[in-house]
Amino acid sequence: MKKILYLITLLVTIASPRAIAQTGIFPKGELSKTNNHTGDVWLVELNKADSVINVALASPTFAPGAKLDWHIHPAGQILMITEGTGFYQEKGKAIQVVHKGDVIKCTPGIAHWHGASPKSTFTYIAASTNAAKNKTVWLERVTKSEYNNAKY
Ligand code: MN
Repeated sequence: MKKILYLITLLVTIASPRAIAQTGIFPKGELSKTNNHTGDVWLVELNKADSVINVALASPTFAPGAKLDWHIHPAGQILMITEGTGFYQEKGKAIQVVHKGDVIKCTPGIAHWHGASPKSTFTYIAASTNAAKNKTVWLERVTKSEYNNAKY
C-alpha cells in the first residue's frame, strides 16, 4: 500500500508542469528566445510597470555558464539574488562574484553584464526603476576571455 501511494505521489509530481517549473521562490518561467544572451535563460515577469507604480519586476534563471550580453539600463536596475552564484561586471572593472542574498545596484548608463558562474545556476529578481524611460540598450557579447577572467 505504501509503495502504491508513493508511486501515485511521484506520478502526480511528474505530471504537474508547475512542479517541474518551480524550483525557487517564483516559477522559473519560459525559456528565453531573445538574442541577448548565451546559454539557457528562463524568464518570468513578476510585475508590469504602470503609470502609478513605475517599476518592472522580472526573475530570470540562468543555467550554469549562461550570461547576458553587455548592456545598459538608461534608468538603472536593482538585482536581488535569490539563488546560486553568479557574476556581475561593469565596463573597466573586475568581475564581482555575487551570491544568494546579495543586492546589486546597476548605475544608470553604465555598460555591464550579469550571469551564472560556470558550475551554478543563478536566479535574481530584477527591478527596473523608472520603467517608462528604461529600455535596455544591448551591446556586444561577453567574450570567453572576459568571462574566464572571473576569480572565485
Ligand atoms: Mn543589467
